Amino acid sequence: MTQNIELRTMNILVTGGVGYVGSIVTEELLNKGYRVIILDNLQQGHKEAILPEAEFVLADICEAQALEDVFRRFEIDAVMHMAAETVVEYSMTDPKRYFHNNIVGGIKLLDAMLKHKVCKFVFSSSAAVYGDPESIPIEEDHRKLPVNSYGESKLMFERILEWYGKAYGLKHISLRYFNAAGATKLLGEDHHPETHLIPNVLKAALPDSSRFKVQGSKSGSEDIKHRTLNIEPVKLFGTDYPTKDGSCIRDYVHVIDIAQAHILALEKIEQLSGRAYNLGNGEGYSVLEVVEAARKVTHAEIPVKISPRRAGDPAVLVASSRRAKEELGWRPKFPELEAIIESAWKWMRKHPKGY
Ligand code: UDP
Repeated sequence: MTQNIELRTMNILVTGGVGYVGSIVTEELLNKGYRVIILDNLQQGHKEAILPEAEFVLADICEAQALEDVFRRFEIDAVMHMAAETVVEYSMTDPKRYFHNNIVGGIKLLDAMLKHKVCKFVFSSSAAVYGDPESIPIEEDHRKLPVNSYGESKLMFERILEWYGKAYGLKHISLRYFNAAGATKLLGEDHHPETHLIPNVLKAALPDSSRFKVQGSKSGSEDIKHRTLNIEPVKLFGTDYPTKDGSCIRDYVHVIDIAQAHILALEKIEQLSGRAYNLGNGEGYSVLEVVEAARKVTHAEIPVKISPRRAGDPAVLVASSRRAKEELGWRPKFPELEAIIESAWKWMRKHPKGY
C-alpha cells in the first residue's frame, strides 16, 4: 500500500546523479535526510561518484522501459533532472545530439512521471537560455535568444514544462545555473575531455615532479612554488571580446550553493511552481581574472596560450539572483571566487587524474 509521504522520507530521483552537479545535489539531499535514487547512463558520470547511501540505476533517460522500471520499483516523490548534454562547443556542431538527449529524453522522463503520478520536477537549466544579453546583470525575464543549441535545448524544455504544468498539473521549477564551479570534500569536477575553465586552469597548476621551495621560506604548501614548465598551458579562448581585458566574463557559483538551491526549490515547489531562477553571484570575472585568482590560490605559474574565440561563447554572462534570494530564500555560502577555486583545487590535488 502507498505510504503517506508525510510518514516516510521523500524519495528523490536524480537523473545524471553521478555527473558533476548531480552528484553534489545527491550528496546534499542525503545530508538533509532525503532518500536518493540515481539514474545515470555513466557516459559522462563516474561510478566512483556513486554515494553508497544512494540507490543507483544504470540507465538512459531515452530508454522508456528503463524509466518505467524505475518508477515501478521505487516510490518516487519528486525528480531532479540533471542528465543532459552540456558542452556548449559541441552543441554547435552536433545539435541533433543535444535535441535528442535534452528534449526527447526529457519528454520521456516527464511522460513516465505523469504515468506514475509523480508531479514535482526541478529542472537543471542554464544561463545559456539568454544568449548575448542586452543588459547586465541578467534578470529572469530578460529576452531569451540562445546562441548555441545547448541553450536552445534548455529553453525549449523550460517551455515544454510550462505546457505540462498548465495541462497536466506538473509542478516545476527551472534553475538557470551560471558557471558552476568548486567541489565538496568528496566530489568534484571531472569531464573527459575537460572543457571548463576552472578545472583546465587548475590542471595547468598541478605540480610536476620538479617542485622547489621558495628560498628562505618555511615549509608548507603555501611556501612551495611549482614549476609548471612541462605542463600544457591553458588555452585562453579569445582576447578580442568587448570586455575590460578582452576575455569573456562569467559569473562563477559554487556547486554546493547550486545544490542548496535545488533543495529549496523542492521544498517550495507547491507555492512557486512555474518559476525560473538564476543562480549566480552577481559578480563577473574575466577569464584572465580567473587565471590570476587561480595563481593566488595555487601559488603556481599557470602558463596560458592565447587562442582564437570558441564558437558559441557570449562575451558576458552575469546573473541577477535577486529572485532566488527573495523567493527561494537562497543564501550562497561561498560567493567568493577564490573560495570556489580553493575548493576545486583541494579536490584536484587529491584526484589529479580525476576519479
Ligand atoms: N575558457 C577558456 N579556456 C578553457 C575553457 C574555457 O578560455 O580551457 C573560457 C570560455 O571560452 C568561456 C569561459 O572560459 O569564455 C568559461 O567557459 P566554461 O567552458 O568554463 O563555461 P561556459 O561559460 O561555456 O558554460
